[in-house]
Amino acid sequence: MVKSTQGYPKHSVTLSVIGTGYVGLVTSACLANKGHSVICVDILRDKVSEINSGHAPFYEPGLDNLLAKVVGEGRLRATLDLEEAVLNSSVTIITVGTLTKDDHIDLSEVLTAVRQVALAITKKAAYHVIAIKSTVAPGTTDTIVMEILENVLGEKEDEAFGLCMNPEFLREGFALADFQRPDRIVIGTMDTKSFNSFLPLYQWADCPIIRTNLRTAEMIKYASNALLATLISYSNEIASISEGIGGIDIRDVFNGVHLDQRWTPFPNRKPASVERIRPGILSYLWPGCGYGGSCLPKDVQALRTHASTHGIETPLLDATISINAGQPRKMVLWAKQALGNLRQKKLTVLGLSFKPDTDDLRESPAITLVTELIREGARITVSDPKAMKVAAEGPLKGKKVRFVVNPREAIRGAHAVFLVTSWPEFKTLSKEDFLSLMATPCVIDGRLFFDGTNLKENGIIYFSCGGG
Ligand code: NAD
Repeated sequence: MVKSTQGYPKHSVTLSVIGTGYVGLVTSACLANKGHSVICVDILRDKVSEINSGHAPFYEPGLDNLLAKVVGEGRLRATLDLEEAVLNSSVTIITVGTLTKDDHIDLSEVLTAVRQVALAITKKAAYHVIAIKSTVAPGTTDTIVMEILENVLGEKEDEAFGLCMNPEFLREGFALADFQRPDRIVIGTMDTKSFNSFLPLYQWADCPIIRTNLRTAEMIKYASNALLATLISYSNEIASISEGIGGIDIRDVFNGVHLDQRWTPFPNRKPASVERIRPGILSYLWPGCGYGGSCLPKDVQALRTHASTHGIETPLLDATISINAGQPRKMVLWAKQALGNLRQKKLTVLGLSFKPDTDDLRESPAITLVTELIREGARITVSDPKAMKVAAEGPLKGKKVRFVVNPREAIRGAHAVFLVTSWPEFKTLSKEDFLSLMATPCVIDGRLFFDGTNLKENGIIYFSCGGG
């Protein structure tokens, strides 16, 4: 069922948000900016203090400014005290992490938070709505979550609580724009009262609002992410076939695919000379060193495992995952093809975050690549405009890696350079830089980022997906 907020009562809500990660904090700041009062909760003391001082604990463009504004206006505060936050709000959104454990989705954070929220609700008389925004497998909210709520709060007929499933589609790097100008809002609900109590949060939204049952809302999120991952792995398989055949310009191949007007429509059916609409989906129809981040890898894996527990085979998802896993390894093989044994070779990895405009390193192909290169005995230098601190304190902690801010300095003396993240900062590297600064001018381009033809014509060894 598709609805808009037209005709529904408009009022501001006091809500609590449990978990102040990318989703929780962006949700909190944006809803506060839209006029609601938000109390966000985390278990990490430092995070809570940083938020209360108006600073974001991670990098997301625009978030620091927005947070300073809404904290300054008194519309957002953070606390360690979940019970106090629930008692002082009428809606609670759960945005804690859902990692993968043994290929299954790990629901422990979600279920702990649900239990804590339910216990807090027992101490209040008024109706309270709980919404799950964390990504969970279809059939989680209406079974496991509902069971916890009913155990703690009694049967739902008592109407002590409402339950919604409100998946989030924001993209890191574009999170504020995505949240504040959404293309759709999905609200899965257990009943009409839950829906009507939750909807005012989105009274400002000018987009379709899809009301579904709880498990359909969960599936919309997985279906969306599985499609994006599949497009990327499809592109990588086309690139591998092109590499094997040889003599194919992979950029022309994908530009040719994109020019199908079903991907790039003409505005208002104008003549062919008119510039096409280039939807964002095209960036998923482009080969590279693989998808990463906190969502696609774990969500595709979780959907596959969840399907298999229902006895359902998933040949397409299996292939998507296996193609993606092989992409960083391909870059290592290209380096060996160019340099032979990689032991003691100086190798530079440009880009650590899983994509530009974020410092998120979760499941980043760059981390897989660096780990493989270290295993090969290479000497590694890395450079990233935003993610080096997170890397040094996180996945690369204790590893023998040199961190260098300036890309020119980072490639000095290198035997090969790997481009993994398309940060615009790396576009400033020229063929002259590769030729004059590197020990061997060898560029392994994981994103079809540089002009390969130009580099090759100037004597630079160049590898990329599809041989482009
Ligand atoms: P995250 O790991 O960055 O943040 C989770 C936060 O929850 C952490 O700060 C953690 O300390 C806190 N937390 C855990 N248990 C808690 C508890 N009991 N009480 C209070 N705080 C608690 O996670 P994220 O990237 O924001 O993702 C959250 C969910 O949203 C996941 O299910 C994810 O799949 C989904 N999602 C993420 C994105 C994205 O781009 N990151 C996009 C859409 C959906």
